[in-house]
Amino acid sequence: KKIKDQVLVIFGASGDLTYRKLVPALFDLYKQKSLPDNFVVLGVARSSFTDESFKEKMIDGIRQFSISKDAPEKEVNTFAEKLFYLSINTDDGTEYSKLTSRLNEFDSEKGTDGNYLFYLSTPPNLYPLIPKFLAQEGLNESKGKIRRIVIEKPFGTDLKSAVELNKSLLNDYEEHQIYRMDHYLGKETVQNLLVTRFSNSIYEPLWNRNYIHHVEITAAESIGVENRGGYYDHSGAMRDMIQNHLFQLLALVAMEPPTVIESDAIRNEKLKVFQALRPLSHVDIQNNVIRGQYTAANVKRVPQKGYREEKGVDPNSRTETYVAMKMFIDNWRWGGVPFYVRTGKHLPTRVSEIVIHFKPTPLNLFVDNKEYCSDGNVLVIRIHPDEGILLKTGMKVPGNGYKVKEVNMDFHYSQLQDTYVPGAYERLLLDAMLGDSTLYTRGDALEFAWKFVQPILDYWETNPNAPLYGYPCGSWGPECADGLIEGENMTWRYPCKNLSDDGI
Ligand code: NAP
Repeated sequence: KKIKDQVLVIFGASGDLTYRKLVPALFDLYKQKSLPDNFVVLGVARSSFTDESFKEKMIDGIRQFSISKDAPEKEVNTFAEKLFYLSINTDDGTEYSKLTSRLNEFDSEKGTDGNYLFYLSTPPNLYPLIPKFLAQEGLNESKGKIRRIVIEKPFGTDLKSAVELNKSLLNDYEEHQIYRMDHYLGKETVQNLLVTRFSNSIYEPLWNRNYIHHVEITAAESIGVENRGGYYDHSGAMRDMIQNHLFQLLALVAMEPPTVIESDAIRNEKLKVFQALRPLSHVDIQNNVIRGQYTAANVKRVPQKGYREEKGVDPNSRTETYVAMKMFIDNWRWGGVPFYVRTGKHLPTRVSEIVIHFKPTPLNLFVDNKEYCSDGNVLVIRIHPDEGILLKTGMKVPGNGYKVKEVNMDFHYSQLQDTYVPGAYERLLLDAMLGDSTLYTRGDALEFAWKFVQPILDYWETNPNAPLYGYPCGSWGPECADGLIEGENMTWRYPCKNLSDDGI
């Protein structure tokens, strides 16, 4: 599909995301020759940049964060000719006529043909406002022209605000014009989940309650809140990671095959997964949801602050930096199969992976084998780092008897030496320009995900004594999280050892 000539308007262009992710990704698209011939990026914010000073700042970002950061100067400069800047007060509707004039100029001088993609990379309180002001200027629709808005997370901070935000957007836009960004869905391995599941006939027959014992989804970060303490303290791991990124992964693992690889076909199937999540009662929340908060500890002998000592964090904060939870999807395919989801900050390593634990063989014929405990085959879908896929199987050790050893059959994306692997923002920006919303979240699914999570947030809010476990920086979180996993001797997968205290 050919991308139409267009203007990409980035609101919040003086901010961190534009500098570190968006413009570097656009340069990568330029390097891959994926941008249309007539293409303009207009950065919009209140800060006073000129076109020239904005270009300079963006070139600096490209040199640090682009996949193609070592590109020749001439190429970077030619790309930078597509960058412009407009300073307006984005929360004042009367200022938007300046935007309209600038867009008209581009259409007549740069051939952008009245096609506009608006990217909101601003504080979330502006997410309902900017689209409304654009609509007041008549920029929300024009027959046959691109009029789309891309919205960064967070889409609301709870069910009520998410519903309100959707409602306010739908006043002036059709759902197909709204692109809710979840950068996890831009990662190659996440998209590869669809291909792994639906292009290999060996997996699909096993992908259900008959053969899968449980599914584990982990997103671990090795750093703390850094300089985002003020923001994070009002958010927490449930809102920041589980409700969006991890639920998206859950939906891709659990969904039924779509009839075609098309946006609505896929998003309809994902929605059904969220609709089938078994709601959690208070007892379920007490038993099946564990939250934690990191505490001061040495990591590789370097002292690390506890969460409550972080800048911008309330010293009595009860915000969770770790969540582990067990849930069920009440449908024909998954009846009775537990899904375990966990995320946390200041864990021993940065890793995101989905682990499918198959049921063990009905009879362990190799019982004398001390080195190999046949709990069942394991399929690890590694999203980060070292993206790839790995199947653990038992193999005979050469020699006498029947000694069995666990071996890995694996594929790493890094093995594809001549293949360019695009970054998540690169892929998602390209899709928004093309008008393909497959990898963006739809409003109804978003609301169902919030509906599931809201009772947990309410329970924590109204029960100040609900447990919040401390865990030392560099550990794998509260030890009681191991107790969530059903099955004898079963724990979470720990891809790397604890690093707290004297760990290495
Ligand atoms: P940021 O560095 O704080 O930038 C915010 C931008 O919004 C600035 O350019 C600011 O520019 C502009 N802005 C416009 N009107 C504003 C107003 N009334 N008050 C305050 N700022 C205003 O934030 P960011 O890291 O770029 O993130 C942007 C959005 O993306 C946020 O909603 C964030 O949650 C989301 N996000 C960011 C990341 C990331 O990696 N950074 C990842 C996922 C999601 P002026 O002050 O010049 O107007």
